[in-house]
Amino acid sequence: MRISVLLLTLACIINCKENMSKKQAAHIDFEHKRHNMVAKQIISRGVSDNRVLKAMRSIPREKFVLPAYMDQAYEDYPLPIGYGQTISQPYIVAYMTEVLQLDGTEKVLEIGTGSGYQAAVLSECAAQVFTIEIVEPLCNQARELLADLNYDNVHVRCGDGFQGWPEEAPFDAIIVTAAPPDIPPALMEQLAHGGRMIIPVGKYIQHLKLLTKDMTGMIAEEKLIAVRFVPMTGGK
Ligand code: SAH
Repeated sequence: MRISVLLLTLACIINCKENMSKKQAAHIDFEHKRHNMVAKQIISRGVSDNRVLKAMRSIPREKFVLPAYMDQAYEDYPLPIGYGQTISQPYIVAYMTEVLQLDGTEKVLEIGTGSGYQAAVLSECAAQVFTIEIVEPLCNQARELLADLNYDNVHVRCGDGFQGWPEEAPFDAIIVTAAPPDIPPALMEQLAHGGRMIIPVGKYIQHLKLLTKDMTGMIAEEKLIAVRFVPMTGGK
């Protein structure tokens, strides 16, 4: 008897919390927050690619975070998405996408789907997006959400991204959103001639690296800003 009362109370607390956050969410002007985020966090730091800015002004980022964090969805920091993983800070999403110089015609590979937010941004900036997530529940959740929001050009695969997606290679652009200690060779191979890859590399200290493959297949590497990503797992 006591246990069932306790369980009922617990269920109510959890339920009420969820209902509350939904109710509160209904009063939040997310569109206003989105525009503010783009102006204050992204344009002000130098990102100017119109495709990226347009995508980030329209994608409902609040749907990609855990309900408890909905009111913080447009803040200037990463947020937990469960399973020890995070959705990146909006500016980092914008910066990495801009570096890829997408014109809407590309086939893009993303490693580390996470919440699916970065994939949604890519979906509005490129033609086709292939994205791989190693944590199965996150993978399934992202696939469902992206389908619900009609991002029909995004293909989600559950598995280890270290080997890339050989059946769909080559890719005009590759973006990695978890940090490996070194650049996985399969990803370099799957980058098209004339393609660009952005990837955080390092164990404790990480830097974003931009790799460009020219038309002869020669690769050039450029070290960009210091970052902090969750580690890339798998690769065995
Ligand atoms: N791009 C995401 C954020 C990524 S967090 C977003 O927009 O929300 C990094 C993600 O990479 C995590 O979800 C983690 O589970 C995943 N990951 C780590 N190692 C991986 C691997 N080897 N292959 C695929 N995904 C991996």
